[in-house]
Amino acid sequence: MKPEEKIIDYKSILDNIYSSISQEENKGAIATYIPELAKIESANFGVCLLTRKNEEFGVGNWQVKFSIQSISKVLSLSLAYQIFGDKIWERVDVEPSGTPFNSLVQLESDHGIPRNPFMNSGAMVICDMLVSYYKNPKEDFLSAIRELCHSSEINYSETVAKSEASVGYRNKALCNFIKSFGNIENEPEEVLDFYFHICSIEMSCQELSRVFMFLANPNFTTTKGTKVLSLSQTKRVNAIMQTCGFYDESGEFSFRVGLPGKSGVGGGIVAIYPEKYCITAWSPKLNEKGNSYRGMKFLEEFTTKTEQSIF
Ligand code: GLN
Repeated sequence: MKPEEKIIDYKSILDNIYSSISQEENKGAIATYIPELAKIESANFGVCLLTRKNEEFGVGNWQVKFSIQSISKVLSLSLAYQIFGDKIWERVDVEPSGTPFNSLVQLESDHGIPRNPFMNSGAMVICDMLVSYYKNPKEDFLSAIRELCHSSEINYSETVAKSEASVGYRNKALCNFIKSFGNIENEPEEVLDFYFHICSIEMSCQELSRVFMFLANPNFTTTKGTKVLSLSQTKRVNAIMQTCGFYDESGEFSFRVGLPGKSGVGGGIVAIYPEKYCITAWSPKLNEKGNSYRGMKFLEEFTTKTEQSIF
């Protein structure tokens, strides 16, 4: 027999953690290397918890849209996995890199095979696959995300995409370098344009928790009534989030929070409790590893106070 499920008062736990963290110093710094991201108000702080039973709890600025940045890499990976299946692992590995998100160093010795799909290099290879597959890559990707989110209100920010492209020398170097090894099929300009756009998608904590439900709820279907990934594929995407979702801070996130998750330099973090819930936290100030300072702190307290963890 299954042990009785503990009744947890999510609302009061969320409210308490939110008010105690709000009173503490908001450490870290906003990402300024993308000029448009530097304009965001650093006091923003929101959280949304969505359970498998469809109970939704929001606190603070949980309905304000922000730049999801690298969180989009989980969505692009999942769609590519749905389309190409295990063939994608011929072009990108699944090992933690222990390096910053935009690192080039391992690519030379690894012959252009990125360590994992959540580093910029790996995400670029996944983008290349989607660019080859879709007829109209930007439009088709956005439609797929809207179907996942059950909302037509999801859009790219042309301003943020343009802003990143104007300074994206390192990403351009990465894409061209991988192309030199033959692991990018399309023209780097097209792949980069797609990559900058998917990073520029704007969503709120509420929308992110909804869009990521397919990794928490095995019965989830899109607006078209289709499943996104098989159970085994879902397990694998969650496993990569667990081991690689926070770049060279992935071990620390596992240690402190104990859930698979993914961060973005816009200050968002999505975390999944498989078969239970999806939680998104947003606060734009980042620690030195590029992960939201308050977001990480919030999630650590949340799994501690709820006494629920996958470990
Ligand atoms: N678009 C950003 C970049 O490539 C994404 C980085 C991130 O969120 N970690 O630099």
